Amino acid sequence: MSGRIFGTTKILGVMGFPVSHSLSPVMHNAAIAALGLDYVYVPFPIAVDDLPTAIAGLKTIQSIRGFNLTIPHKVEVMPLLDEVLPIAQAVGAVNTVKRVGDRLIGTNTDVAGFLNPLKQLNCEWENTPALILGGGGAAQAVVAACLELGCSVIHVAGRDPKKMKKFHGSMTSQLHDYNLRVHPWTSIPHLLEVAGIVINATPIGMAGDPNTPISEEEMDLLPDHAIAYDLIYTPRPTKFLQIAAAKGLKTIDGLEMLINQGAIGLEFWLDLPVPIEIMRQALHQHLATQS
Ligand code: NAP
Repeated sequence: MSGRIFGTTKILGVMGFPVSHSLSPVMHNAAIAALGLDYVYVPFPIAVDDLPTAIAGLKTIQSIRGFNLTIPHKVEVMPLLDEVLPIAQAVGAVNTVKRVGDRLIGTNTDVAGFLNPLKQLNCEWENTPALILGGGGAAQAVVAACLELGCSVIHVAGRDPKKMKKFHGSMTSQLHDYNLRVHPWTSIPHLLEVAGIVINATPIGMAGDPNTPISEEEMDLLPDHAIAYDLIYTPRPTKFLQIAAAKGLKTIDGLEMLINQGAIGLEFWLDLPVPIEIMRQALHQHLATQS
């Protein structure tokens, strides 16, 4: 963003509730400024029940070129769009929407955002069992990502057996022909012994929560070559990643996923290569001023 809004300025944004905490405006406006584009990226606080009215309204505002969706709108937006791309159908959630003429097209960039940091690693994914902690919305994208990586088996552990059964049913109806197994939370120690990558897809350990999804003793059960990936990006690093790093494991934090999903989304809207390093720097600088 140049800091100036004109009659020609095009609008991007993020819909959520609440949305004031979103880091997306920081990274997108930094990229827009670096590219010298006449765009601005703004937060749209939209309550759950207002989503259909909001989507219908913004469809009529031609200067709105695209938007992200965050909690609680990622699933509910799907029937309100003109088209949902296969990756978002597979995940069962849309996080990015683009206007093409009068049509709104939804996709999911969380999958590729999660994958990009992993693709830089030299890993034999076909011999790597994945363990996902938590079975919520983000876990759905992580399952699709692990499938794309070719992980030998995907284990998901959750605390509510009914929800985990539903999770298994909805994922297997959308993504066929792969090895997905759901487990109770109490099975985690046994699953850690064979995991090549363990992913925290719960909010345990977010800023203000001193807990970890797995204890220091349980971390000892992981093989030496295992990767620990936490989707959480505040604090950085989480206690989960601190323990993993102290054991000598490779670690990845949620900020890289956030940056990568954002960069892929911006490229989808603009049809231009985007300056991911500037987005990364903007977020790092912003978070440094918050701590
Ligand atoms: P969600 O849909 O609410 O799912 C959270 C999952 O964690 C649920 O399965 C929930 O189980 C489980 N859980 C919560 N507290 C738990 C506890 N104390 N013990 C065991 N399980 C627990 O949330 P989400 O959208 O998937 O997000 C999950 C995390 O990923 C959040 O921290 C979010 O900030 C992060 N995230 C990061 C990115 C990124 O770009 N880095 C993107 C998306 C999400 P129940 O259903 O039984 O409550």
